[in-house]
Amino acid sequence: MSGVVLVTGSSRGIGAATARLAAQRGWRVCVNYRQDRAGALAVVDGIAAAGGEAVAIQADVSTTAGVQALFRAVDRDLGRLAGLVNNAGVLEGRARVDEIEEGRLRRVFLSNVIGSFLCAKEAVLRMSTAHGGLGGSIVNVSSVAARLGSPGEYVDYAASKGAIDTLTTGLAREVAAEGIRVNAVRPGLIKTSIHASGGDPGRVQRLQDGLPMRRGGHPEEVAEAIVWLLSEAASYMTGSFLDVAGGR
Ligand code: NAP
Repeated sequence: MSGVVLVTGSSRGIGAATARLAAQRGWRVCVNYRQDRAGALAVVDGIAAAGGEAVAIQADVSTTAGVQALFRAVDRDLGRLAGLVNNAGVLEGRARVDEIEEGRLRRVFLSNVIGSFLCAKEAVLRMSTAHGGLGGSIVNVSSVAARLGSPGEYVDYAASKGAIDTLTTGLAREVAAEGIRVNAVRPGLIKTSIHASGGDPGRVQRLQDGLPMRRGGHPEEVAEAIVWLLSEAASYMTGSFLDVAGGR
């Protein structure tokens, strides 16, 4: 299946690589961003230059109003939704649990968990055969942090990804008979600006020698797994997890 896919948080990093690869494989892509308009427009321009079709739509996925406006814009500008990649995510600086404030917990869980649930809801309302839709595919971007727990760094972030894994398992079973597949990828240490946004720009460089493959991953390597799970090539996969983590 190809058609229209929404990739949340695709102004840079793994989301941008996923938007580009999905467009290459024939999907018409909504490039969602929260703040980085220039980044999102650069992704859209790159897709158009390569002969693909994409639009950039600003929305904060951590709010109901933002998510509803985002999906209405996709309906209007691109047409019937067939795919959702729940990619938007944040982490904050290195901290132990006994140092984490409530406000940070709210920010991390709002973007990573509430945002993914709200987007999944809107996607199911459009794609489920029980709602008159024609089916589709959802890929959630979790993290190996969900099984490692990220002690001393960000247990809050790891726990938010644990919730994404549970969302994947539960929603997959809930809508399996309604034409929707739900899967997840769990990236390891990937070279994107998320580490700098958590105050640790040298994190991949510092930790990569300790990884089984002795290197960090590229966003494009994660995008391959996401776009494959989205596609009909993965037609009998649902509730599944692909770790893209260099053996970690
Ligand atoms: P990134 O480079 O920091 O990009 C994050 C993207 O998410 C940006 O496009 C950002 O938009 C967007 N975003 C954040 N909060 C948003 C919100 N509330 N509404 C809409 N967009 C929002 O991060 P990345 O490394 O590519 O990470 C992508 C996903 O992979 C995340 O879910 C992350 O947890 C997961 N992951 C990453 C790694 C890694 O090592 N990089 C490992 C495991 C999992 P703006 O810039 O426009 O604000």
